[in-house]
Amino acid sequence: MATIAMKFGGTSVADLERIRHVASLVKREVERGNKVAVVVSAMAGETNKLVAWTNEAARPLVQDGSNRIPAAIPDQREYDVVVAAGEQVTCGLLAIALNAMGVKARSWLGWQVPIETSAMHGSARIEAVPAADMKARVAAGEVAVVAGFQGVAPGSRISTLGRGGSDTSAVAVAAGIGADRCDIYTDVDGVYTTDPRIVSKARRLEKISFEEMLEMASLGAKVLQTRSVEIAMLHRVPTRVLSTFTPDVGGTLLCDEEDIVEKKPVTGIAYSRDEAKITLHKIPDRPGVAAAIFGPLADSGVNVDMIVQNVSEDNKKTDLTFTVPRGDLAKALAALEKHASEIGYRDITHDSNVAKVSIIGIGMRTHAGVAQTMFSTLHDKGINIQVISTSEIKVSVLIAEEYVELAVRALHSAYELDAA
Ligand code: ADP
Ligand code: ASP
Ligand code: MG
Repeated sequence: MATIAMKFGGTSVADLERIRHVASLVKREVERGNKVAVVVSAMAGETNKLVAWTNEAARPLVQDGSNRIPAAIPDQREYDVVVAAGEQVTCGLLAIALNAMGVKARSWLGWQVPIETSAMHGSARIEAVPAADMKARVAAGEVAVVAGFQGVAPGSRISTLGRGGSDTSAVAVAAGIGADRCDIYTDVDGVYTTDPRIVSKARRLEKISFEEMLEMASLGAKVLQTRSVEIAMLHRVPTRVLSTFTPDVGGTLLCDEEDIVEKKPVTGIAYSRDEAKITLHKIPDRPGVAAAIFGPLADSGVNVDMIVQNVSEDNKKTDLTFTVPRGDLAKALAALEKHASEIGYRDITHDSNVAKVSIIGIGMRTHAGVAQTMFSTLHDKGINIQVISTSEIKVSVLIAEEYVELAVRALHSAYELDAA
């Protein structure tokens, strides 16, 4: 007998028939003698619809006459009230379906658990899950059905955890009730060498190290939210990724690096289309300029990712290129334009037609020539590399967006990841 947390994503609870199927998987665990907390996402597509509504509602507030969608909703707390609604529906429906099947269950919203978060509305961080009441009820045999993605911020305001945040809710609930494991059920039967939707030859990984999964997630593999992997690693929650539709086959276990016997140079390939590139032309080549550029961006809450600065030809002027999330481009340009005179650039250009492709592997630490294979493979396909960044276990390149699938497939073959 074990205490387990199960999480079901949007496609797994997309309609009532699927919610009943999820209820049957939960019932099966209860019949095995396990104590269960379930975390659910909103029905597939619901969160997108709610986000679009918040943008639409904010539109008349734009005063500049451009009628463009504002970079931020004026009050992010109200954004959270709206977008958290999708999970309220599915957790209630699953509790109803379970009770109808004779399984004792009740729903728990974020504030009821409680899932306490920071005040960063829209992308809040879970700070604590003091779930004593829920834990006691689960221990007594009642299934807890928890609304994913949402929590409660200081001031008793509803918060949300950023897109894909139900994964993080699930691992945090598992840690909060001291579960023996966390099973993340989704629409693929595990973590693959790359997104199986774009590479049919992608292979499922039996195991992946926390470190590699962290990189994969943060570099764009949306199978798990990055923060969920951090919490699993920190709280030592045994976490698996499984399919809702074929629950008895496959699966991937997150584990420590030491548990991986064969350390290939490249374990996986990730890509992200959520990128935009900004170049500042002819900035002064002197101390303090980088601070003058990145300070205002940080103050505006823009995360800068890849950075490259050219060598100046005359020791006086140079160009600087960097990337930001595509949705933050307008905000970033506004911040730079506001500080134009302190920075002293001649002009700014930007490009949203870019994507980032990354190779990830702990074996990279000990294998030479890994990056070179990436560069020559892209060269063979005629793909131009615009920016490069590296860490100990990954290499990322920025390329034109239209080549992203070609690049991922070519690299997948080049690193011998293709399924036989
Ligand atoms: P859920 O709604 O269940 O949270 P998501 O859509 O957020 O599901 O995540 C699952 C999707 O992640 C898969 O359908 C797949 O297309 C995508 N994905 C991207 N990279 C990978 C990968 N390396 N392994 C598995 N799935 C991946
Ligand atoms: N429903 C939220 C989203 O679409 C959270 C999640 O699915 O994990 O981002
Ligand atoms: Mg997800």
